[in-house]
Formats: sequence, structure tokens, C-alpha cells
Amino acid sequence: MKVRKRIRWTRFVAVILFFTIMLGAGYYFLGGKIEEHGQAENIASDKARFEENDDSGDVIEEVMTEEEEEEEEEEEEEEELENETVALNPDGKYIALTFDDGPSAKVTPRVLQTLAQHDAKATFFMLGSRVEMSPNIAAQVVAEGHEIANHTFSHPNLKKLTHNEMTEEINKTNKIIEAATGVTPTLFRPPYGIYNQDILNYTTSENYTTIMWSVDSLDWKSRNPVAIKNEILNNITNKSVVLMHDIHTATAEALPEILMALKKEGYEFVTVSELLSLKSEKVDPYFGN
Ligand SMILES: [Zn+2]
Repeated sequence: MKVRKRIRWTRFVAVILFFTIMLGAGYYFLGGKIEEHGQAENIASDKARFEENDDSGDVIEEVMTEEEEEEEEEEEEEEELENETVALNPDGKYIALTFDDGPSAKVTPRVLQTLAQHDAKATFFMLGSRVEMSPNIAAQVVAEGHEIANHTFSHPNLKKLTHNEMTEEINKTNKIIEAATGVTPTLFRPPYGIYNQDILNYTTSENYTTIMWSVDSLDWKSRNPVAIKNEILNNITNKSVVLMHDIHTATAEALPEILMALKKEGYEFVTVSELLSLKSEKVDPYFGN
């Protein structure tokens, strides 16, 4: 933008200079004619001036056209920006809400509705087995601007599987999500947050970022909207990653009040990838904050 501003400033100065010179030349030309030939030549002078102005008029038109083009370019840029992920302010207050173990035909649509009402974006760590059952809901999650991520196919403790079983759980799920939504997830969350070096080596080699959390809503344990809300509000800090599950009705019930309370505190709700974009280098695994 700075470069563009400087260019525009230079152009502005050039246009002013151009007019000053043309004005000076006009006066000189006109004055000369009047002095030399007196009032009788005024009509001829006017004609000459008109022609001269006509010429400069062409140039002005050219300048205007360039400026118009520039404006058009800017409009195009603005349109492009709307489609891109908006860069976050490093000093901003952001929270990444994450919903695991879905999609659920019963709970996920309710969660989506609340998120839309509050203009909040979230990340959904889905199970391949459940995306197979509700591919339309997975597609809806993506269509509404949320991030979709990989949480394995059948929610096993990956440490108890063989290496090949572990990779199969992850690969299969990404293919299912891709088929349902057209999006290839780049984020991975191991079930129960359990991983080891072998799992990390594999996910890193496949260019996933492993995402943990910094605030556990304990919705899986309490199944109580008030308890879920208090757990989150008591533990939240700037740039937290919050763990929730879009398979419990209590989570959907708690969500409106959680969003309202955190919005009052000035927080915005972004996807995990947006939060990660604030990091200068790759953090893997990522716990938030
Ligand atoms: Zn899970």
C-alpha cells in the first residue's frame, strides 16, 4: 500500500505541474498575440486557445482514464480481499472454538446456526465414520466458512494401533472429508489428545499440523450447559483453543451464552488456521495461546 500511495502522490504532483505549465504557456501565447496584433486578433487567439485547451483536454482525459483504471483496479483488489482470509491483528483478541467427534445430524446444525447468528467461525475435527453418515452436514460446515479437520476414522487410541493402522485411520478420513466437501484438511487432532513420536513423525511428514487445546470445556464429562459455560469463561485467555464436542445437546445449548459473554469481552472467533497464521513459524503440536 505504501508504494501505491507514493505512486499516487507522484502522479498528483505531476498533474498539478502539468496544469501550471499549460496555464503559463496559455497566458504567454495569448498575451503575445494580443500585444502583437491587438484586439482584432482576439477571435483568432480565442480559437488558438480553444484548440490548445482542446489538446490539453485530451491529456486531461487520458489522466482521468488512468485514474479511473486505478480505481477499478482498487475495486478489484477489494473484491479479492473479501474472498481471502482476512489477516488477523497480532494484538487482537481471538479465540478458536473447536468441535470434535461430529458431524451429528442432531447437534451440528444447531451449533452452525448459533455460530452464524454471532458471525463466529470455528473448526470442526470430524470423524471419517461420521462424515460417511452425514456428508451433507460436513459440506454445510465448509460452505458456512468454518474449517474442517481430521480426527481419525473411528476415534481409536492411536498409540494402541500398529503404524499401518494408525496411518490408515488418518488417510481414510482425509479422503472421505475431501469427497464430501472438496476440502483437504491440513489439521489433525488425535483422539483423546493421545499421540507419540511415531504419530507426530507421520503427521508432520504428511504436512498436517497436530492441534491440541488450551481450554477443555469438559462438555463430554458434565453434559451440563451451565457447567460448560463456566468452565470456558473461567479458563479462557486471549488466543485460547477451546475443546468442545458437537455431539452433545448440552454443548449446543451452552453455546449462545458463551458467545455472547466472550463477545462482550471483545473476543472474535476465528478458525485454528487463522490463529496459526499469527505464528511466524510452524508450531506442531499446537496448543493455542
Ligand atoms: Zn474426539
